[in-house]
Amino acid sequence: MTSDSLRTLTLGLRPAGRTLLTAQWVLAWRDGTHHLVPNGEIVMEDGAVIFAGRTFPGEVARRIDFGAALVSPGLIDLDALSDLDTYTLVHDNQPGWARGRIWPRSYVERGPYEMYSEEELAFQKRFAFGLLLLNGITTAAPVASLYYREWAETVTEFEAAADAAGDLGLRVFLSPAYRSGGMVLEAPGKMVPVFDEERGLKGLRDAVSFIEHQQGRHNGLINGLLTPDRVETCTLELLRQTMAAAGDLDCRARLHMAQGPLELETMQRLHGATGPEWMATHGLLSERLIAPHATYASRRDLELYAAHGVSIAHSPLVSARMGSMLHSFAACRELGINIGMATDAAPSDMLMNLLMGLVACRISEKRSDAVLSAGLFDAATLGGAKALGRTDIGRLAPGTRADIAVFRLDDPHMTPSVDPITTLVLGGSGKVTQAVFVDGRLSMLEGKLAGFDMHEARKQAQAQFEGLIAKYPDRSWEHPPVQALFSPSYPVWTDAGGKNVEETAF
Ligand SMILES: [Zn+2]
Repeated sequence: MTSDSLRTLTLGLRPAGRTLLTAQWVLAWRDGTHHLVPNGEIVMEDGAVIFAGRTFPGEVARRIDFGAALVSPGLIDLDALSDLDTYTLVHDNQPGWARGRIWPRSYVERGPYEMYSEEELAFQKRFAFGLLLLNGITTAAPVASLYYREWAETVTEFEAAADAAGDLGLRVFLSPAYRSGGMVLEAPGKMVPVFDEERGLKGLRDAVSFIEHQQGRHNGLINGLLTPDRVETCTLELLRQTMAAAGDLDCRARLHMAQGPLELETMQRLHGATGPEWMATHGLLSERLIAPHATYASRRDLELYAAHGVSIAHSPLVSARMGSMLHSFAACRELGINIGMATDAAPSDMLMNLLMGLVACRISEKRSDAVLSAGLFDAATLGGAKALGRTDIGRLAPGTRADIAVFRLDDPHMTPSVDPITTLVLGGSGKVTQAVFVDGRLSMLEGKLAGFDMHEARKQAQAQFEGLIAKYPDRSWEHPPVQALFSPSYPVWTDAGGKNVEETAF
């Protein structure tokens, strides 16, 4: 049962005075590890945790009892979906290159353009941030597709994103993504990279200036992160300057590497090395680097990550959907590599990713005890914080920020259990998230956000996505109509006997 005091809290506000949270289980950090505290207590004041343990000895302004729930550190998402996920379009419509996932030469020659307006770009980030909060994610490093962009992300949309994070109460690490090149489709199945180095360097300069202006805004919720797109679409000079800038700004950089066969081929052709080998040769691997997704990393690549303190951003759901997995979560941990978790794609569900990560590791290792639920839960909290260079998030102890997620344990979908971590990981659904506090402020309660109606927003998201789909033929190989690009799962029933399904839009 939830005590009445919960109803006295206001969405979007930090409760005044000391607020005590208790539940059947509390996850408190002590002596280098999370501890499960039965009927434990967390006390927060002015956005910080001042007590995490069994019984708080002092006075509090209010006491909120969540009952059969876990009061947990909020989850950290290193590659957090901030998009209306366009991979859903090719999920059952393959190959991707034939369905608008790669720019055909004809589209490049005519001049790529933005497929969303500034308002649409701002809206999709706000909506995506809302979904992250609904799933118990309190810290996010946003990521979105560049396939439908004119080139890269823009400062304008990221200013809007920073304000959305501030309005909704989500801690973010971000700046606009940039790149020196992109893949162009020359013939069916034949992709080649094209480069424009100056454009990439300008993107980096914009990102640096964005971070200089935004760092620390909204009570410290806004933090810098440099996000060069992918190793195969960046020149050496761009990555050199990126890592130097990360040092100057004292922030992290995220670079997708060792994540697919096309990247491996392209890197061999351009540089005669894998992404991690190439980066290591030029002294660019360091603990400042976060590298999604490592599913195509060689043993040597992983050893390089371990030697240089690179963190892996692990998003097992999107990898598995594309037929790949990390080999393996347990092996990487054994090598001493720090792993943080990521959603990366729809659904923005971290608990689902923890279940998928546990399953993928056990399949990869062919052992049912290759990894335990706590290993994945550590990655989504402590691992993410370490990757971002922070010790004041991802754990609940005196002095940490009050970034907290409350997960129901008595939801009918959650199997009865004696251990809340196993229950949540095995449950595999963030839908049991009841409340989220970020920096002590109530950012989400029972599916509701401050000043943003997710049900209305979902209607807008649908309309915006349909608008994008209508533009797909323009940037798809030989420009077929939408109906030929994206087929329905089953023939669509029509009353006009004899009318061909292919002629029927859905
Ligand atoms: Zn990713």
